[in-house]
Amino acid sequence: MKHIGFTVVLGLWLCGFAMFATQGASQPTQATGRVEWIDIHVHLVGGRGSLQDYQAAIRGALGAMEESGIRKMVVMPPPQIYGNPGNHEYDSFAEVLKRYPTRFAFLGGGGSLNPMLQAANGTEVSNDLRREFEDKANEILQRGALGFGEITAHHLSHVPGHPYESVAADHPLLLLLVDIAGRNNALIDFHFDLVTEEMKAPEWLSSPPNPRLFRPNLAAFERLLEHNRKAKIVWAHAGSDMLGNWTIELSRRLLVRHPNLYMSLRLAPGRAPQNHPLSRDNEIRPGWLQLLRDFPDRFVIGGDQFFVSPSVRGGGPGVEFSQRAPMNRERTRVFLAALPADLSRKIALENAIRLYRLKD
Ligand SMILES: [Zn+2]
Ligand SMILES: [Zn+2]
Repeated sequence: MKHIGFTVVLGLWLCGFAMFATQGASQPTQATGRVEWIDIHVHLVGGRGSLQDYQAAIRGALGAMEESGIRKMVVMPPPQIYGNPGNHEYDSFAEVLKRYPTRFAFLGGGGSLNPMLQAANGTEVSNDLRREFEDKANEILQRGALGFGEITAHHLSHVPGHPYESVAADHPLLLLLVDIAGRNNALIDFHFDLVTEEMKAPEWLSSPPNPRLFRPNLAAFERLLEHNRKAKIVWAHAGSDMLGNWTIELSRRLLVRHPNLYMSLRLAPGRAPQNHPLSRDNEIRPGWLQLLRDFPDRFVIGGDQFFVSPSVRGGGPGVEFSQRAPMNRERTRVFLAALPADLSRKIALENAIRLYRLKD
């Protein structure tokens, strides 16, 4: 039974990884050189949650860094809700990560602030709740986090067992969080499945838990971005769009209007591969190249790689998706190698170092 429990837990927090398999299967035909990069969006699955267990997952991450030329990683707990077995927050792994200060940094809140936010959906936010939320956010920063993640206002349920998460992107607790981030020069890693117009749920999404009808959420997102320009928001999974709305044109419009908006690229196509930077031949699509050239300082690499402790037994989607991380790394390498060298260096390294204030 224990193994079944782990399998369920692992299935909960995959952030869209499920879409990697079919579109990314072709072998790269170009750009064979080694490239160094920083991955600012990584998750660890520690099984039983002991330090020892996270140590094993971190060893896996270190091995992958060595093999693929990843200089540093920013680790964060996935965006969770209350009540799921296996929930974890940054303090599960932060002490172990601190043993490798040149290799890892971390964000917090996915296992504490995000559940509070989701539970406050549609309810009045009391002063007590605001205070509790703010105290937790301040504690996360005091413990050494560079910011807050993974936080979501809209997360599809795209694999069995994954919760559907949805709150207004301008929810009072999110406005409070951007104010805290702005005050502290911290950033927010934000998962946000975009809906630009009312649309029916596509066939590949089951309803429930997803709604049959998705309501537009872009205007609320823009209000969040406008609320405090000092707060840097890193919109996760650029290029790995699920509902077909996160187009190049939309990215361009938002990057022009919102100077505090950044995007982290996940180099695996989502359910809308037309919005992915790489063609089927692993060439960078011209529209994407132009977007990156026009906003060279606004993109970083966020692979959404999972590393699972070997103590986690049995199969299940979590183990399966962590096994796909090598393909994700290879696609990232191909992408970076195909970019002009100066642009590649910014997206691979320089932007992450500046934005996250990473130390050498
Ligand atoms: Zn995510
Ligand atoms: Zn994630």
